[in-house]
Amino acid sequence: MSYRCGIGYDLHRLAEGRKLIIGGVEVPFEKGPVGHSDGDVVAHALCDALLGAAGLGDIGTHFPDSDPQWKGANSLLFLEHARKLLDEKHFTIEYVDAVVILERPKLGPHFPKMREALAKSLRVPVEKIHLKAKTNEGVDAVGRGEAIAVHVIATLSTL
Ligand code: MG
Repeated sequence: MSYRCGIGYDLHRLAEGRKLIIGGVEVPFEKGPVGHSDGDVVAHALCDALLGAAGLGDIGTHFPDSDPQWKGANSLLFLEHARKLLDEKHFTIEYVDAVVILERPKLGPHFPKMREALAKSLRVPVEKIHLKAKTNEGVDAVGRGEAIAVHVIATLSTL
């Protein structure tokens, strides 16, 4: 058995009039991510971490934002597709750990639902998905509430 880790990062600007979708869950807030799809930063960074660990490129390769097919798309679809690609290459998802950086609102109460949604899309037990939240201590664009950023590490195993 061998193990591989992949890293993923994403950032989206926040604007009024957009739904705040994080980890497949809508969080009530006055702003949401600007993006071609639903702007779900956790799903995007997670997708990149999985593809990176498998040596399969990145989310832009598989879901170009120039493609009208993905306009307003539910980003959990990207994860479902990534899971299929991993299956084809005989990779197993061992663990996912993420840090979501957002000044407001508090995300902790929403983590159980997000973990459930992500685990369902990846068809893994919910215990394999871990989420953590940080603020940016008021510093930079994230700290001013102008953006949301996410870092993810995914561990895969293969025979
Ligand atoms: Mg993105």
